[in-house]
Amino acid sequence: MSDAETVKPITGEEAPEILLAEDDPVTRMLLTRFLKKAGYRVDAVADGREALDRIIEHYYPILVSDWEMPEMDGLELCRSIRNMQLDGYVYMLLLTARDSKEHIIAGLESGADDYLIKPVHEPELVARLNTGRRILALEHSLREANNQNRLLSITDALTGAYNRRYLMEELPNEVERSRRYGAPLSVVMCDIDFFKRINDTRGHSAGDAVLRQFVERLNNCIRSASDWVARYGGEEFVIVLPETPHRGATLVAEKIRALIAATPFTSAAGEINVTASFGVAATTPSGPDITLGVETMISAADTCLYRSKQTGRNRTTSCELTPVTSGSQAAGTELALDAMI
Ligand code: GH3
Ligand code: MG
Ligand code: MG
Ligand code: MG
Repeated sequence: MSDAETVKPITGEEAPEILLAEDDPVTRMLLTRFLKKAGYRVDAVADGREALDRIIEHYYPILVSDWEMPEMDGLELCRSIRNMQLDGYVYMLLLTARDSKEHIIAGLESGADDYLIKPVHEPELVARLNTGRRILALEHSLREANNQNRLLSITDALTGAYNRRYLMEELPNEVERSRRYGAPLSVVMCDIDFFKRINDTRGHSAGDAVLRQFVERLNNCIRSASDWVARYGGEEFVIVLPETPHRGATLVAEKIRALIAATPFTSAAGEINVTASFGVAATTPSGPDITLGVETMISAADTCLYRSKQTGRNRTTSCELTPVTSGSQAAGTELALDAMI
């Protein structure tokens, strides 16, 4: 076997973990030793079935696999891995003793990225693993860019809150989850009072600063693991509170309302006193009934918010959406508005 020094491994970044599947104990031992010397962390297994179990348990970015093995061969292993949804791309390199064109084509068609003819020439293995690492790095940056794009498409650039599109996509799932688990769900709609006046007297960028701090304060008052905030319109926001009944949601809204009113907001144009009005719509404690849809919840919260505005602003109005079996309520729900100051 040649010396690995002739091909330099990629340096300056952490070497990816390699899963090695090789049934021959001596080759397995030699390859493991060599790959470790080349800077890789290696886990070695003796057949394809074991390799598959390992990779399901823990993601490996690189698989180096022998072709002929008992239980499950390298070809079937590659095919199975390509059909699975894993945490990232697995770069697969097949080791084969046979070098006919048909054989190699079959290997690549099974999903392998590359192949190496046995006996393994070690500098060539390092060089091919370097190619794999370049592909993995590309795949990683593509994945990051996709995640970033997804985030941009569902968040509001000014405040970092989710946008209306996300709200309308995700709220039906929350309703469905609550229905399935028989758990209450509340939505709080809030709107900054006389916001136009802030823009008019302090300038648009002061208005923007208020919007950003407003969302910060909302986020500080909710449970980050389950609750979330979406910007519904200009200075109007919706807070979604899973597993929160009428009373709990009203308390949350009141807590936020008091917090907004208590401390002035800061801006380059000086301190600004801000208040906001709130409308809360909650399901019954046993969750949404089958007829309750997202539109009904939003429009009920909006009706409550409108009432808060009409009755003087800087207040919370809430309602519980109780199912009715008869009567004139078209949406199958009954609104009983509770006002709180
Ligand atoms: P009310 O108490 O009835 O809610 O009165 P209001 O002035 O808050 O409501 P109105 O709907 O009259 O005004 C909302 C203003 O919000 C008008 C719009 O220019 C402003 N606005 C919407 N989006 C933004 C934004 O991103 N930045 C800033 N600075 N202003 C915005
Ligand atoms: Mg073998
Ligand atoms: Mg407003
Ligand atoms: Mg408004």
